[in-house]
Amino acid sequence: MVYQFNDVTVNYGERTALKNISCTIQEGKWISIIGPTGAGKSTFVKVLKGLLPIDEGMYLIDGQSAPRDRKGNPKVIADIGYVFQYPEHQLFETTVYKELVFAPKLHGYSEQRIKESMDEILPRLGLSDDVLPLAPFQLSGGQKRRVAIASILMMEPKLLILDEPTAGLDPVSRKALLRLLQEWQQQNNRTILFVTHDMNEAAEYSDEVMVFQNGQLKEHMDTNKLFLEHGPFLEQIGLSLPEPVQLLRQMEELSGRRMEAPSCKEQDILEQLARWTMNERSRSDHE
Ligand code: ADP
Repeated sequence: MVYQFNDVTVNYGERTALKNISCTIQEGKWISIIGPTGAGKSTFVKVLKGLLPIDEGMYLIDGQSAPRDRKGNPKVIADIGYVFQYPEHQLFETTVYKELVFAPKLHGYSEQRIKESMDEILPRLGLSDDVLPLAPFQLSGGQKRRVAIASILMMEPKLLILDEPTAGLDPVSRKALLRLLQEWQQQNNRTILFVTHDMNEAAEYSDEVMVFQNGQLKEHMDTNKLFLEHGPFLEQIGLSLPEPVQLLRQMEELSGRRMEAPSCKEQDILEQLARWTMNERSRSDHE
């Protein structure tokens, strides 16, 4: 599915939250959404999910107008999963099992389909069948978060919106959760829109980045290009560079040489720095 905004403007009363946004979201990509607080990131993803109306412009899904009810208000789009911050606050069933089957049953999914989804999704999110009879309060913080996300994946969304999904988790759990979501996204050719303040996470996981500022979409481009070639632009709007890219720049400054990196991912930059250090050493050994 392709989601497209043409010149979309959204107001909250007198306040304009999104101004003339035009963009296309292609299938099978991890797209990070970054920008200062108040830039319009949450408004953008809420409009996409059909939770907020647009005041001007058009929202198209596969070339057709996004669905509306009889009064012309947007309809919540079932194909889009939305993980809010602290999604575990929305766990309301008495057991994990009931939580996972609630939405699929409501939408009339067959028993067979529900079972197949559960068999696929539980291990994918690092959860075993043992948690099914437990009450949500018996789970650890990280498990609760994964159950809440699993219940959204049970609906087989084509596009998954993650609004700061790792808020409040420790670094190890953050990394584990993002890796699991990345596997789900890549193996199923799904799309993830990832709203984040964390430039390291944006650099590590995304194919593309959208940069919002003052309700405008300032950039939408390849992640490596943005972080490796547009550092001054990001700094100008108050965003930092990912730490591995900062390290690369510091090394450049100290050595007085330009260093090309193949990507902005931590592992690639560290390997590049290691290669460079070894070359330097063998050069000085020859001198
Ligand atoms: P971000 O997610 O980037 O922090 P938001 O989309 O939440 O930005 O907000 C964009 C702008 O809209 C901000 O100026 C914010 O104050 C305003 N805004 C957000 N939600 C509301 C609301 N419910 N009522 C009025 N103004 C709002």
